[in-house]
Amino acid sequence: MSWVHLSDSRPVARNQYRCMLCWCPIPQGEKHHARRGIGDEGPLTYRTHLECIGQTEDWTEDECESAIPGILEPPERIREWMRERKAEKEG
Ligand SMILES: [Zn+2]
Repeated sequence: MSWVHLSDSRPVARNQYRCMLCWCPIPQGEKHHARRGIGDEGPLTYRTHLECIGQTEDWTEDECESAIPGILEPPERIREWMRERKAEKEG
């Protein structure tokens, strides 16, 4: 996979997104990490939880490039958030 890095920012989520590292939801309104770049298929934004991107700080470039969604465990608070959502749905 080729990747041209454009920018990093920490926006507030306008919609619910999915974290590209743990593949769990980034709740709407959450401050998260957004990395913009150009991949094989054009421009894209790679969004992750702040905790998840924090875990990749000591990764090599190869490790980052070969990271697949779901490679990390979601942060405990996100697991908790998902449990709450599931409970809401089930009434
Ligand atoms: Zn995550």
